[in-house]
Amino acid sequence: MKALRLKSWKSEPELEEVPVPEPGPGEVLVQVGAAGACHSDLHLMHDFEADHLAWSPPFTLGHENAGWVHTLGPGVRDVEPGQPVAVVGAWGCGSCGRCLDGLETYCERPDRAPVPGGGGGLGLDGGMAEYLLVPAVRHLVPLPDGLDPVDAAPLTDAGLTPYHAVRRSQAKLGPDSTALVFGVGGLGHLGLQILKATCAARVIAVDPRESARDLALCCGADLVLAPGEGLAEQVRDATGGRGADVVLDFVGSDETLAASAASVRMLGDLTIVGIAGGTLPVSFFGVPYEASVQTTYWGNRRELVEVLDLAARRILHAETTIFTLDDAAQAYRDLANGTVRGRAVVVP
Ligand code: NAD
Ligand code: ZN
Ligand code: ZN
Repeated sequence: MKALRLKSWKSEPELEEVPVPEPGPGEVLVQVGAAGACHSDLHLMHDFEADHLAWSPPFTLGHENAGWVHTLGPGVRDVEPGQPVAVVGAWGCGSCGRCLDGLETYCERPDRAPVPGGGGGLGLDGGMAEYLLVPAVRHLVPLPDGLDPVDAAPLTDAGLTPYHAVRRSQAKLGPDSTALVFGVGGLGHLGLQILKATCAARVIAVDPRESARDLALCCGADLVLAPGEGLAEQVRDATGGRGADVVLDFVGSDETLAASAASVRMLGDLTIVGIAGGTLPVSFFGVPYEASVQTTYWGNRRELVEVLDLAARRILHAETTIFTLDDAAQAYRDLANGTVRGRAVVVP
């Protein structure tokens, strides 16, 4: 089968012919219906080096996957060949305290996980291929009626990650609150819809691309702004001087982190989701009083069930641009050039 493979750090991925995997005991082979192209893959190609992560290339890209159950390994029950499924991407050990809480993203026995801190497309072979080997049936969520793999694939990361971040700040998202979103790409355009679906906060979106600001308005943003000098003041003006109760930074550069810290309200949340590599100096007078600064990584199975349900009920919708597997490298080039609306999705 064809697969888009990252062969070393700091390199462009290559389309190669690889064998179709055979599922061993407990494993499931999924026929890939769609695989989203995440900006994190661009960081893998361009920014990361050998000592950044506990795993390394070569592997097939694609950590945002949905498709159909194809073949069951010995002992697998609960799913049927042909059944449409979304893949929960973070694959932990399944038995430590965090994994038992459903937080396989934060598995504390990485030595017992298939790949420490990663999953398919992040250290192990991912879904930019015709088939994806999934190590355990608990990583599969049956698709609700009316949702196909192309709709579902982006939800497994671009939907799930903002959902986890928004739910974490739920207590601060009351009806008179403001949420501020930096970056209206794959994650951000779904983050805006999730905010609108789960709370009554006023929502402000920031993006340098006019097309992304237009998309933000379609996704329910009450106000869109371009980044730059004076941004924090515009946010304060729009919030009666208070600032944003919850800031979700889907970029994570020096610039957006500084703007986030300047825009967050006292007692607010500043959540860093983007991994552009920026830093934010945190000190007593450096951020507003009692503002919490936190990172979040992906989300869990239960949250994915909720995200898929919102999508099946047409409350959440991923905007997608479709590419073939032969054109998958182009999807990443377009993403890097900022010409993708919503999410680029590869359909093998
Ligand atoms: P994307 O390329 O689809 O979207 C990024 C958006 O940010 C674009 O619309 C871009 O125009 C905008 N942007 C760039 N500079 C900006 C600025 N100064 N101010 C405001 N907006 C700006 O990327 P994506 O796939 O949505 O991923 C976003 C980030 O989140 C990436 O860094 C990615 O690696 C990271 N990510 C993190 C997690 C996690 O679990 N923490 C999961 C997935 C992705
Ligand atoms: Zn991702
Ligand atoms: Zn674990």
